Amino acid sequence: MNLILAVNAGSSSLKFKLINMPEEVTLAEGNIERIGHDDAIVNFKTPNEKVKKIIPVKNHEEAVELLEQHLIDFGVLSSLDEIKGVGHRVVHGGEKFKDSALIDDDVINEIVNLSDLAPLHNPHNLRAIQIFRKKLPNVPMVAVFDTAFHQTMPKEAYLYGVPYEWYEKYGVRKYGFHGTSHKYVSGRVCELLGNPNANVIVCHLGNGASVCAVQAGKSVDTSMGFTPLAGLLMGTRSGDIDPAIIPYIMQKTGKTIQEVENDLNKKSGFLGVSGISNDSREIEDGIARGDERCILAQDIFIRKIVNYIATYHVVLGGADAIAFTGGIGENSSLSRMQIAERLKALGVELDPELNDCRGKERLISTPNSKIKCFIIPTNEEVMIARDVMRLINR
Ligand code: AMP
Repeated sequence: MNLILAVNAGSSSLKFKLINMPEEVTLAEGNIERIGHDDAIVNFKTPNEKVKKIIPVKNHEEAVELLEQHLIDFGVLSSLDEIKGVGHRVVHGGEKFKDSALIDDDVINEIVNLSDLAPLHNPHNLRAIQIFRKKLPNVPMVAVFDTAFHQTMPKEAYLYGVPYEWYEKYGVRKYGFHGTSHKYVSGRVCELLGNPNANVIVCHLGNGASVCAVQAGKSVDTSMGFTPLAGLLMGTRSGDIDPAIIPYIMQKTGKTIQEVENDLNKKSGFLGVSGISNDSREIEDGIARGDERCILAQDIFIRKIVNYIATYHVVLGGADAIAFTGGIGENSSLSRMQIAERLKALGVELDPELNDCRGKERLISTPNSKIKCFIIPTNEEVMIARDVMRLINR
């Protein structure tokens, strides 16, 4: 057995999957949310059993202890030492990491140096790495970067029209995120089409959302930018706005730059426009009730996605396929249908019956559709486990 643990740590969460490789069979998975609170939520699942508990979890160290205890109590492992490798999702790899990396002190220092570019994410990813390194000092660990897949973008796609020294001195450029998901989903589409050179547009639509243009397995453009704030309208993030809005709102409201940045990250998107929720299910409930602001939030969301798909269709010289993934992409037949309806000019046509489905990998376009459309449930953990195996066996 080659047991690989894939770990995704956030500021107050820890998600994991234990996968047996190379069969890619999940033996256990779970997540711990609201770490740091007395009512943290612990979800743990094996193929046969499932538990959910609400208990105090003080910090990430305690969360890792809980993970170990559950794996032992459920008979999945007798000790964490049976794990052959650990893969950590790391949000920002900058220009330094064009691929996943075997973690050593140098790699850790590089991730520390990149924390400036991703202050909301990299420090939490690092913390988990440190905890697991302490606990399992002899087990190899691999960092899998959200940005690495997009390092193949051409300069004209990743540079902004700003003073060039901003790029040279401060690293201001488009990095793109969700790379592991875009890579997995575009790879599955190529397999389903039997064409490794296919042009694929991946729509990763979740609480965070991005579109990616993939040519022969390589990212050539994507909608997120210097940070995950750019591109589409998301759960609470604005996506693209005119940057001049920021000083204007600061002047009008007296807010600081941090407060405006917080508004754009946490109070915009579905939540900001609807005034109701960041959750697309509640937006859809609002649409069903005829709530105008929910309808508007959804229309802006869909319009931006369609704009990116149309642009990337041209960038790719014609897309062979469009793939939907992420919580909304996999589950919302309404969103997929609305996107397809606005893409009629490109000859996109969904089969309503095939589209009426949740979370299943399948073709959803009609035989007449000029671009094939798929639902592909993403699997970032399997990608992480594959990279761990590739790097530890090198
Ligand atoms: P993620 O960030 O990928 O976990 O996706 C979260 C988003 O997926 C939230 O906006 C959820 O409301 C949305 N979502 C999950 N299930 C459904 C569903 N059945 N219909 C519409 N949206 C859904």
